[in-house]
Amino acid sequence: MNKKVKITFTILLIIIILMAVFAIQKNKPKEENNNLKIVSSFYPIHIITMNLVEGAQNIENVCLTQNDVGCLHDYTLSTLDMRKIEKANIFIQNGLGLEEFMDKILQANQNLKIIDSSINITNTLQNNENVNPHIWTDIKNYINQVETISQKLCEYNPENSSIYTANCEKYVQALNELNSNYTEQLAKLNSQKVICLDEALVYLANSIKMDVTYIETNHEESTLSADTMKNIIEKMNKENIKLIFIGEENNLNNAQTLANETGAQIIKLNSLLSGEFNKNEYLNKMAENLEILSKLSVN
Ligand SMILES: [Zn+2]
Repeated sequence: MNKKVKITFTILLIIIILMAVFAIQKNKPKEENNNLKIVSSFYPIHIITMNLVEGAQNIENVCLTQNDVGCLHDYTLSTLDMRKIEKANIFIQNGLGLEEFMDKILQANQNLKIIDSSINITNTLQNNENVNPHIWTDIKNYINQVETISQKLCEYNPENSSIYTANCEKYVQALNELNSNYTEQLAKLNSQKVICLDEALVYLANSIKMDVTYIETNHEESTLSADTMKNIIEKMNKENIKLIFIGEENNLNNAQTLANETGAQIIKLNSLLSGEFNKNEYLNKMAENLEILSKLSVN
């Protein structure tokens, strides 16, 4: 090797080494910060935390699941979900058995603090021995969940407690106003009979004191058997039930058949199982439900 080749080779080697060092630096994961990481299980719970943590310092607030997964029945945690859990400090769940994967979460992160939003709920409904966990469609329950989560956040993260408390007060005030509008504008629906084809809407119907017949559908109206349909039609005709509630994302087929056989009206409502990650979505969608219900003509 002559001198010129040696120099060229050395320069090339240096360039390669520098490039390699640069690439390693670039791909090195960013230093972990010391922010408090809050993970909510799914959409309606994440909307609550979005409202509570606004303005809080040194926290990260994420949702475990995507905003379009719907209800968590039979949900299987993904690798990405598990990674969120491993880094989390606080996990907020709806509770009442909705998050069937809690054992897996507790196994993955034994230091995780758990907030169960349902611990102070007293009006749980039961169907075939199963507790209906979709409590949030009753505004009073939702307020209770907001307050429970706020209290626990204050306890686990006292640095931000004044912010959580102030946000909670502001949010609860808006929710109370919405609830008063429900009570005032929907008095005409008290004791009205309704067939509810989505378990997530039963608490809403109960909160306005309707006489609810709930059909278990696991959010999929298409699962109803011919026998079940026949029984519902008989009941509706016998008891003169003229209203059917279904969730916005439900399949219309069975509701349509019931309506055709009985002359009942189908009312599509939002059960807040999914939607935009926007902190006002609960208020907005429940206000839309109110508008739909207040326009109903009933006997
Ligand atoms: Zn569900």
